[in-house]
Amino acid sequence: MTQAIRPIRPLVAGNWKMNGLKADLAEALRVRDAVSAPGADLGADVLICPPVTLLQALAEAASGSKLLVGAQDCAAAASGPHTGDLSAEMLRDAGAVATIVGHSERRAAHGELDRVVRRKAEAAYRAGLAAIVCVGETSGERQSGLTLEIVGRQLSASLPDVATAANTIVAYEPIWAIGTGLTPTPADVAEVHSAMREVLVKRFGAEGARMRLLYGGSVKPDNAAEIGSIVDVDGALVGGASLKSNDFLAIIATYKN
Ligand code: PEP
Repeated sequence: MTQAIRPIRPLVAGNWKMNGLKADLAEALRVRDAVSAPGADLGADVLICPPVTLLQALAEAASGSKLLVGAQDCAAAASGPHTGDLSAEMLRDAGAVATIVGHSERRAAHGELDRVVRRKAEAAYRAGLAAIVCVGETSGERQSGLTLEIVGRQLSASLPDVATAANTIVAYEPIWAIGTGLTPTPADVAEVHSAMREVLVKRFGAEGARMRLLYGGSVKPDNAAEIGSIVDVDGALVGGASLKSNDFLAIIATYKN
């Protein structure tokens, strides 16, 4: 279950959600400085997805460093009468290199179905952004033994046919593990990730074999190494623990070259 040699460069992505004022940029700048320091043993790419109000400022501050900056969602349309929405092109223009789509909080609070998530991923590609496509089961679905079926179905319906290892990252985020301090057992994570890999290889061939599969849901400094060592876990999507630079850097530090 442990990966000896990593075939895929991992990604540690921080999702700040609806947290962060200008003063909190200092936390992200500490991450930027630490990951960009000469001699830093950075065994993963590092991305922070702040709220959109901070995106441009952070992207400018991170320019030329090893810190990547992303968004948390995008609209499917490129422009037009969509009050309050932001297109992938706008996010790219503000400095994002990637965007999360289909986070369970958006699926639940905004009624985003798989087909909407798929259109958002296509919008991300159109603008030159990588899409971090989130999937994951509820606790009821897990208890009913439906996890692999639900995740497989979400994966198939949320990913566009033109997904590649370069433009797509998949994040398995069990909904019951997000922000709760609960995590699946390593064996459970391994089972889901290996099933996702199978689905991706079947549909996308070599691209599916190389696509990064992140685990997300209560990743903390004290469980990051164990989770990151599971085969087919190619990094982490981190919510709460990405808000404090010390915690986020401790998670990043578990990925060594
Ligand atoms: C998330 O919402 O993407 C997430 C993983 O949150 P947390 O790490 O706080 O569980």
